[in-house]
Amino acid sequence: MKQQTLILIKPDGLVKSLTGNILTRMSETKLEIVAAKIARVSPELAQVHYQHLKEKPFYDELLTYLQGQLHDRRKVMAMVYWGDDAIGKVRTLAGATNPEEAEPTSIRGAYGRITSKGVYENVIHASSNEAEAEREIKLWFEPDEIILDAYKTKTVVLDGVKKRVWA
Ligand code: UDP
Ligand code: MG
Repeated sequence: MKQQTLILIKPDGLVKSLTGNILTRMSETKLEIVAAKIARVSPELAQVHYQHLKEKPFYDELLTYLQGQLHDRRKVMAMVYWGDDAIGKVRTLAGATNPEEAEPTSIRGAYGRITSKGVYENVIHASSNEAEAEREIKLWFEPDEIILDAYKTKTVVLDGVKKRVWA
């Protein structure tokens, strides 16, 4: 089944100069890149992205991590990959959430670490299921930034200019 999935190279991945390695590993999946950009992460974007973890003790530290405050890199690289079983393939390549439990040759197993404050700095984010992928892709990208009719859109007029937005 064709799927789309959101990948983020988190600030620790950028600081460790892992962009090239991660893209090379990702190409093993034979999936297609249909969107890519460098994005700043506002506090609001971080909060909404990780809204399912709001009650966790590490939530506040996690938000500072995603925003790049722990690494002096206030950005992430955001991408959408598309193809057969995209979500599962990327999750397998990424490895387990906890880098110490992740398979050593997975991206998180090879490059992740646990900070002294207990946050898993695990280098990349990957959507965990189709509902999350849709929610996350719509959060990080506008329709015209994706080379694919990912999800339903509608046209609105803003200051006299037509614009496609998620329906
Ligand atoms: N995380 C953490 N400690 C935990 C669980 C999660 O620091 O016990 C962080 C980690 O960076 C992880 C992110 O929170 O990638 C999101 O957690 P989730 O459970 O969604 O894991 P993921 O989908 O990223 O594997
Ligand atoms: Mg998750």
